[in-house]
Amino acid sequence: MTHPNKRLIFVGGGHAHIYSLTHAHRFGAEGAEVILIGPDRFHYYSGMGPGMLSRIYEPEQVRFDIQAIVESQGGIFVKDKVASIDADNRTLILEGGEKIGYDLVSFNIGSHVPLHLIPGAEGEAFPVKPIENLEQIRNTILEKLTMGTPTILLIGGGPAGVELAGNTWRLVRDHHGQAEIILANSTDRLLPNVAVKAGRLAIQSLYERGIKVLPNFLAATMSQGLVRSQSGEEISYDVAILTIGIVPPHTFIASGLKTSKDGALLVNDYLQSVDYPEIFGGGDCIAIQGRPLGRVGVYAVREAPILFQNLLASLTRKPLKPFRPRKRYLLIFNLGDGTGIFVREPFVFKGKLAFTLKNHIDMSFMSKFQVS
Ligand SMILES: Cc1cc2nc3c(=O)[nH]c(=O)nc-3n(C[C@H](O)[C@H](O)[C@H](O)COP(=O)(O)OP(=O)(O)OC[C@H]3O[C@@H](n4cnc5c(N)ncnc54)[C@H](O)[C@@H]3O)c2cc1C
Repeated sequence: MTHPNKRLIFVGGGHAHIYSLTHAHRFGAEGAEVILIGPDRFHYYSGMGPGMLSRIYEPEQVRFDIQAIVESQGGIFVKDKVASIDADNRTLILEGGEKIGYDLVSFNIGSHVPLHLIPGAEGEAFPVKPIENLEQIRNTILEKLTMGTPTILLIGGGPAGVELAGNTWRLVRDHHGQAEIILANSTDRLLPNVAVKAGRLAIQSLYERGIKVLPNFLAATMSQGLVRSQSGEEISYDVAILTIGIVPPHTFIASGLKTSKDGALLVNDYLQSVDYPEIFGGGDCIAIQGRPLGRVGVYAVREAPILFQNLLASLTRKPLKPFRPRKRYLLIFNLGDGTGIFVREPFVFKGKLAFTLKNHIDMSFMSKFQVS
């Protein structure tokens, strides 16, 4: 049985929505009008972002044309961002001022770098997200290389900091330039959320290429090409990139929805808001009640088919399916020199094989969601 005149809105065309968007005709077949709201027609795949900085990959290889995808499935693309949600009236308020009503809505609006944690960072440093920033970072580095030997500073030694330091090295090398690359980290351990061995392998790889790793540097303020740490140390830089972690958007708290402490939409095992059953979500912007998960793309991708099934089930009034996250997952870090660090605990190793595998996985993932 079909349910005409239902409106299903996807907010953000991120990793958790891509499966639903490429199968959106299935919602149409149930009588739903499908709308995707996003700030740009392209969504960039973060896993290949560092490789885009160094041009292992061209931008076209790293992005989904989410507008073309949804339109090819009979849906509508609205270029805007959701500013807030009036959940009681099932209405989204867009930044452009428009209001759009929904019967069913799903959020995949990702996360951002909390620039406010370092006073002065806004306008001084490039946040690593959105991933599109990497193109601007690349252009700025290339411009600075033409003027001399710039200092390129990365603040934050997690996966993004390590991958970007390695790929900045490659960018400089491939342009026959000279640069001082510094990775400043608040502790003495890189890649703090995975096995210690991975962090050691990362330090060794960066060190061998002349990249300076500065431990125990907790950036406190930034101003006019200078960053000062909490203990008073200073580093001057020509280009600064912030990779200090990510936080969910403020949208859900600001809209009065139930959230986790850090502001992620609180959902149940069905990826459904705990207080509004017609609101769903996936990826970095949600928190599953009682099961905190790491904010990694792997989970967003694994949630994607469950989200699809549950949105379809909600339209057709069928039972929902729980998302059962696996604790263990594979991570491979692209070091920018043709090698990678493979982590699937307890296995950790570094080498060309790891990068070859990552390249294969990422390219296969991308090829599934291309429209011609
Ligand atoms: C450099 C880097 C490398 C990474 N590498 C890996 C990796 O190899 N493996 C891994 O598992 N994880 C990796 N991660 C983590 C990964 O980026 C995130 O976990 C992943 O992007 C989450 O996907 P998402 O779809 O939830 O969010 P996002 O990828 O951030 O997508 C959100 C989308 O929503 C849109 N949007 C935002 N706000 C709004 C709004 N208000 N209204 C409408 N649309 C909106 C955005 O434009 C974007 O298209 C990496 C992160 C970085 C920064």
